[in-house]
Amino acid sequence: MKFELNEYKASLTDEEILSDIKQVADSLNVDYISISTYKKYGKYSQTAIQGHFGTWKRALSLAGLRKERTSSERKLISDDDYIADVQRVAAMLGSDTVGYDDYKKNGSFSVEHIFKRFSSWEEFLLKAGLEPTGLAKRKITKEELFEEIERIWILLGRQPTSTDIIKHGVSKYSIDTYKRRFGGWRKALEAFVDYINSDNTEESPDVLVTPMNGENESVSESSIESAPKRQAQKPIHSTSRNINARLRFQVLKRDHFKCCACGASPAKNPNVELEVDHIVAWANGGETILDNLQTLCSKCNNGKSNVL
Ligand SMILES: [Zn+2]
Repeated sequence: MKFELNEYKASLTDEEILSDIKQVADSLNVDYISISTYKKYGKYSQTAIQGHFGTWKRALSLAGLRKERTSSERKLISDDDYIADVQRVAAMLGSDTVGYDDYKKNGSFSVEHIFKRFSSWEEFLLKAGLEPTGLAKRKITKEELFEEIERIWILLGRQPTSTDIIKHGVSKYSIDTYKRRFGGWRKALEAFVDYINSDNTEESPDVLVTPMNGENESVSESSIESAPKRQAQKPIHSTSRNINARLRFQVLKRDHFKCCACGASPAKNPNVELEVDHIVAWANGGETILDNLQTLCSKCNNGKSNVL
């Protein structure tokens, strides 16, 4: 059988809908009913009600019913009820996110009460697996997702699991964002590892060569080409001072996401910030290579730093 849309029933009047709403309320012996209750027992669709009255509140008011729940009625609404409802609206709009205004138009609950229950609209959207409205306005890049995976990895001190993302709320992006972009959490991690292992240096203009595989290619100034790589008296470098994200992660991972000096880790103390430091200072000719880099916490690094 072919799937077809229902014919729009042009003959449906406001009165027919209102009397059906009243009838449902009467049969349940209440003076307030929610749109979801109405959908369970009533004859007409939410779309039809919106078409005729704009909002559910307005329909209730015209039907002579109470427009809002009392606070005790509200307490009976579970978090899951709210979440299911915003997911329904997102699906209806074909969107990753739902703004206040769209929810006001299409949702079954009051946004103010959602705000109270979930502390913020963005929190609520995240709990529902949707995108925060601020982020949804533009496409999140893969690099941003990689940065976030890196941040979480460092924070936990280990490979993050999908449970960390879903249940423990450590990611600022929802699991669905990673799934949509990469096809699954595992695939996101694989893409991240490929990214970290790729030997493309970053677009930083002063990155001249990739020294890791011992292949020293010529540099713009030929004098540097013949300079000894290490123990240079003058700080002549074959690498950029800048530690790119990939190298940074390789150092952190090698050092087990702990400070090499005091052992502090963000996994044990979220206030710990890890930095990647040149063992032989860059100013003294130290290169930006894995062997000359170490993980230090910001405290130990400040104590050590002889620059600035
Ligand atoms: Zn330390």
